[in-house]
Amino acid sequence: MQTRPSDRFATLAIHAGQEPDAASGAIMTPIFQTSTYVQDGVAVTRGGHEYARVLNPTRTALEGNLAALEGGPVASAFASGLAAIEAILKTCLSAGDHLVCGDNVYGGTERLLRFYERFGIVFDSVNTSDPEALEDAMRPETRLVMLETPTNPLMRLSDIAACAEIAHRGNAVLAVDNTFATPFLQRPLSLGADLVVHSTTKYIGGHSDLLGGVVVSASMKLGESIARQQMVTGAVPGPMDCYLLLRSTKTLPVRMKAHCENAARIVEFLGGRKEPERVLYPGLPDSEGYELACRQMTGFGGMVSVDMVSRERAESFVAGMRLFTLAESLGGVESLVCVPARMTHASVPPERRAAMGLTDGLVRLSVGIEDAEDLIADLGEALDGI
Ligand SMILES: *Cc1c(COP(=O)(O)O)cnc(C)c1O
Repeated sequence: MQTRPSDRFATLAIHAGQEPDAASGAIMTPIFQTSTYVQDGVAVTRGGHEYARVLNPTRTALEGNLAALEGGPVASAFASGLAAIEAILKTCLSAGDHLVCGDNVYGGTERLLRFYERFGIVFDSVNTSDPEALEDAMRPETRLVMLETPTNPLMRLSDIAACAEIAHRGNAVLAVDNTFATPFLQRPLSLGADLVVHSTTKYIGGHSDLLGGVVVSASMKLGESIARQQMVTGAVPGPMDCYLLLRSTKTLPVRMKAHCENAARIVEFLGGRKEPERVLYPGLPDSEGYELACRQMTGFGGMVSVDMVSRERAESFVAGMRLFTLAESLGGVESLVCVPARMTHASVPPERRAAMGLTDGLVRLSVGIEDAEDLIADLGEALDGI
């Protein structure tokens, strides 16, 4: 936009990166469903548009929008969250380099890192909630630190500013997976992170109808390297998915407020019931991460985990739900439930799960934006039926 009316979040969410179409005046960015572009002479392109792996105007609008929301100068969109994470690995690491990764990151992230061991890249998993553990894991050849906060499904928080300082002292880049919080609740670049990555499949998409990822960089230099990986490998989202994401981000603030409100009501309800052994939510004042959450986030999010003690009780709880749907993934408008030990985290070795406190009785709720009364009634009936 030529004159941006505001830098406030909801205004950016609706307007950043987008202008009415120059040819037609269409207010919404068109879906540029094309693989190539006419050239006006040999190698004379219109604005660098030569081929759709390199540039697509719908994708460019989405990238401008997401960069603005995370407060970075540049973003690159990818076909999935893991494609985005892989672009970070290829940008930051060479054979012989070391990386430190949070020990409770998304299972697919760790699977990807294990794959990279074949190419001579070594990684250590540490609990990044403990800055001293991160400090101890740093080696002279550490070039990248990757963390998630809050983590999935244990809801542990890491101090982004403290981790950035440790990473930078060691000459390493800090990348934060902000999928759970979204930029509406947490802006890692403003806390010193160098890269923010999302699975846009989750809250940013918000409607469980697409797969996508994005990397937002704190500097043009890093951003250009990420964009180069995007161009070289071509793991780009199609224009239809970019359009759907542009449509989604317009309501991100409204949806996130509703997710937070519903999650808070459900946490309050669960706290009054005797069946759950423990409720994990960063907004609980007696939780380990509460103080940090108040400092580094502007809300506590829509993800809630409940410890039902045993696998049998967890499965009975889940089987009794009628509104919460049993499925992997999260962040959509509809409420989902999963049992991480047997679903999303089944690939994590049982000893690792036990050491982290990821028990067989843990149930993860992705609280949607239905009426809170209906969600609470559903959980109440499911608890009664155990
Ligand atoms: C889902 C998820 C990913 C992977 O994203 P895909 O879009 O499935 O490739 C990465 N990080 C987190 C935190 C996720 O929840």
